Amino acid sequence: MGFWVGKVVGKHQYEPATFTKWLMPKDVSGNDFNGLGREDVYRPPSHFHGPNWHPWKKVANLFGMRAVFGRPGTIVSIMKHKFRETFLHVKIAEQKAEGTAESFSRDMKRDVLKSEYVEMIGITRMKSDYMFAGQDGITSPWVVVVALSMDYDELAKNLEGNFSATIKQVIGGYERTQHGAMVVANWIRRRGYYAKAYGGASFIENEFHLAIPPAIDSGIGQLAKNGSMISDVVGGNFRLSTVVTDMPLVADEPRNIGVDEFCMSCKKCTEDCPPGAISDKKQMVRGVERWYVNYDKCLPFITEHEGCAICLSTCPWSRPGIAPSLSQKMLKKMARQKEQMAS
Ligand code: SF4
Ligand code: SF4
Repeated sequence: MGFWVGKVVGKHQYEPATFTKWLMPKDVSGNDFNGLGREDVYRPPSHFHGPNWHPWKKVANLFGMRAVFGRPGTIVSIMKHKFRETFLHVKIAEQKAEGTAESFSRDMKRDVLKSEYVEMIGITRMKSDYMFAGQDGITSPWVVVVALSMDYDELAKNLEGNFSATIKQVIGGYERTQHGAMVVANWIRRRGYYAKAYGGASFIENEFHLAIPPAIDSGIGQLAKNGSMISDVVGGNFRLSTVVTDMPLVADEPRNIGVDEFCMSCKKCTEDCPPGAISDKKQMVRGVERWYVNYDKCLPFITEHEGCAICLSTCPWSRPGIAPSLSQKMLKKMARQKEQMAS
């Protein structure tokens, strides 16, 4: 074990570095704080975003600092993100455009999907469940979710130990996807409605919200065993950003694309996660049985390995072009099983 980087001491066993250990709380598990094992339903406490004090926040802050400092590519991405978020929302047109929820939804999708920054888009109603505990600053009725792939070859350099290339791809992915959200927000604002874009590197206290739950509800994809999402369009290697708006829209529906069934019989990420943070079984988290990544094991590792993301690179769905056919195969298999059960 070193001062700055720890070491793998056995299969799925990682000994964090001295400095990380010093920052880790001795008596509070991040898993308990996140609601692992709890059967009551409540909103999650914020982690990187917002005013809530997470007991592991010192380690999270160290992760943030190590992911950024000394890496010009990630600093440039964060500055672009911040600049765009602060200054580049266009003025809301004084006159509201004519249209219906159906025509606005259809036209918005048609237009913004032409942008290189928007690969997939979904719409859902805003719910208080999408906000962290104590963050109730959003009153807009709609969330539009944008998804955009990262460069798989760059991301997968972490499998060769090059975590710097991976973190550059991840932070750059947040920035490019936030660009996509701005394309959507400005499309809406030019038609006289309120819209605001949020990205993964946003730090807007009291307004920040979760991206994965609305992305699932709006049909972008499903939650996977590695705690990230998988989509039948953009696979397992993408970033999300969101837009909140009061433009009348039509909600998309959640979709079963076969991810849950695939993850049930795949162990790739569970096997490949160095500290053994990915459970092979679903667990109860704040009243919902779901896939869960062990926070106390993952956070020290990602802190010392520039965001890690091995579980993204190693997932079969992340390989470019594979996801649509994998989803089709799974859906056919599930349909056959259903037929067999009915006969
Ligand atoms: S990022 Fe994924 S592979 Fe890396 S430690 Fe966390 S769960 Fe494991
Ligand atoms: S590696 Fe396998 S189990 Fe893990 S998220 Fe991908 S498909 Fe699911």
